[in-house]
This record gives sequence, C-alpha cells and structure tokens, in this order.
Amino acid sequence: MQTKPNILLVYTGGTIGMIKDFETGVLKAFNFKQLLQKIPELKHLDCTIETVSFKKPIDSSNINPEKWVEIAEIIEGNYTKFDGFVVLHGSDTMSYSASALSFMLENLSKPVVFTGSQLPIGDLRTDAKENLITAIQIASLQEKGKSVINEVCLYFEYKLYRGNRTTKINAEHFNAFASPNYQHLAESGVHLNVNSNIVLQKKTTKKIVVHKKMNRNVVIVKMFPGITDSVLSAIIAIPNLKGVILETYGSGNAPTDDWFVNTLKKAINNGIHIINVTQCSGGSVNMGQYETSSQLKEIGVISGKDITTEAAITKLMYLLGQNVAGAVFKTIFETSLRGEMR
Ligand code: ASP
Repeated sequence: MQTKPNILLVYTGGTIGMIKDFETGVLKAFNFKQLLQKIPELKHLDCTIETVSFKKPIDSSNINPEKWVEIAEIIEGNYTKFDGFVVLHGSDTMSYSASALSFMLENLSKPVVFTGSQLPIGDLRTDAKENLITAIQIASLQEKGKSVINEVCLYFEYKLYRGNRTTKINAEHFNAFASPNYQHLAESGVHLNVNSNIVLQKKTTKKIVVHKKMNRNVVIVKMFPGITDSVLSAIIAIPNLKGVILETYGSGNAPTDDWFVNTLKKAINNGIHIINVTQCSGGSVNMGQYETSSQLKEIGVISGKDITTEAAITKLMYLLGQNVAGAVFKTIFETSLRGEMR
C-alpha cells in the first residue's frame, strides 16, 4: 500500500496568518496554531501535515538573508522526513525569497511551494484557503511514488509558477503575481493541470546541497532620465561593493554619455560586477542590438537576459557568497542555474 505524502508547512508570517488589532486597525502576525484551527478542511487532504513556525512570524518586508537561511535550514533538517514543503510567506517579498531559496537549495528533488494571501485567513472573502489547500495538494503530487514538482515554486490565485520567474504585480488583486518570461507550471481549475514538459526534472543521483552564504554587498540601480554622475559615482564608491544590478531601458539600453560608460568601466576594472537587467516586465536584455548598449557589452557588463530583478539580486548574492572567481563570474551568471533565465 502506498503511504500518504508527508508535507511540512513552514509558517514565516505574512497576511495569511494576520489578524486585525481592533484598537489600532493595524494588521499584525498571530499564533500559527490559530491559523490551522481556521482551516478544518486541511484534515480532509490526502497527506499528513506537520507544521513549524518562525518563533516570531514576520511581515515579509522584514525578510533578509539570515531569515532565508532559517527557511533553508528548516528544509535541510526535515528533508528526508518529508516529501514536500509549503512555505507560508507574505506576498510583498515572496518573489525575492522564492528566488533566493531556489539558488540556496542546489539539487533540490522535492517540491518547495511558497504561498500566502492578500486577505487574512479569518476574513470572509479570504483567498488564503484556496491558496493554502492547493499549495499543499501540489506539494503532495506524486507519480509512481515520485514527486511531480522538484523545484522552488510559488502558488497564488490558481496558478503555480517557477518561483524565480515571478514578480509581484498587484497590491490589490488576488491575482498578485506574474511570470512574464516563463509559462506557469500548473493551473488549478476543476482539475489540477501540470505542464509536465516545462517543470525541472529531478536530478536523481545528486544529493541536496544547502548554500547558506549570501553576500549583501550589492545594490540595485534603476536608470531614469536625468540620473547624475555624482549619484552613480557615489553608489559605485560604496566601500566593499561587489555587484550592481543595473535596471536599464528596453532591451538593455542606457545613456551613451562618456561619464556614464567610464564610471561603469572603472567599477568593472575594480572587480565590481555589473549586471544588466531590463526595467520592462517582459522580454530580454540583448546588448549590442542598439548603439545604446554596445558599449556596455564592450566594457564587460554581464547580461541578465530575461531574468527578473528579484532573481538577479539573489543570484548575485548567492554567487558572491560562493566566492565565484572573477574570471568565470560572467559566464556563470549568464548561465541558467535553476531555470531562472533562458
Ligand atoms: N505585508 C504583507 C507581507 O508581505 C502582505 C502579504 O502578506 O501579502 O508580509
């Protein structure tokens, strides 16, 4: 007889488990046990569920690399005992966390599904129940005793996405996430349809490696018409700065002014990695397509291709944490490690 899948529910915080303080009207995190009492339906799922919670649940605006390590260690410590993991997380920074965890969990061969909600679980019109129940079902999906999903994903409002391809697009709608450059992995309707030819395949022989070093000496610079030399130079001069995610226009274009190109060139010569990602929500960087990006290519700017900013900054932290040598950094960054870029 086939045993039921074991699922570990990891509660980090977020609206899903919040209640309103009736005196102030402010939403704040509350005890995780109360969250489970709010969804008796969980008992009817065809899996066993155990729960673990952050000691102090957080609003996801307070997430940081140390807390990513906490999530990674919970998964590492329970990896053999469980068949799948559901991480309850605030939606605000969920795409950053799902991206970070995708890099930190190398050779992952079990599902890690991030989910949360726009309305608290106790709210009459809440989206929390559907998100939570389906996320658990997805984490439980098995075929011939093997998990169907073997990567870090994000489930929200009827769609399962590759976590490191997502971005939060709406602070109001239940449909809060998009994955502009990669098709969703599964859709929940009357049936749960998994797009099995685009999910990451299991690396059966390789053991999971949990990476815990994320280098925080990084910055995101968003280009805007009128940015000055003094602003860019001041950023580049930040002590110990190791990498910059440069959000450029369109397919990776930026001003051709001498001061601009020379400042970036100086930074690259000083060992700072500059990664070109586009401000557009969809599409890819293609340096050399326009005159306004060919100099960037020449001076050694790294192409982020079609990566999201969330995946780019966490990939940068991860690769710097791995002490990847300068000579191969560009090649490795431009290679898809967890399906985060084409
Ligand atoms: N501010 C909340 C958070 O990200 C919003 C949410 O949970 O969706 O923690």
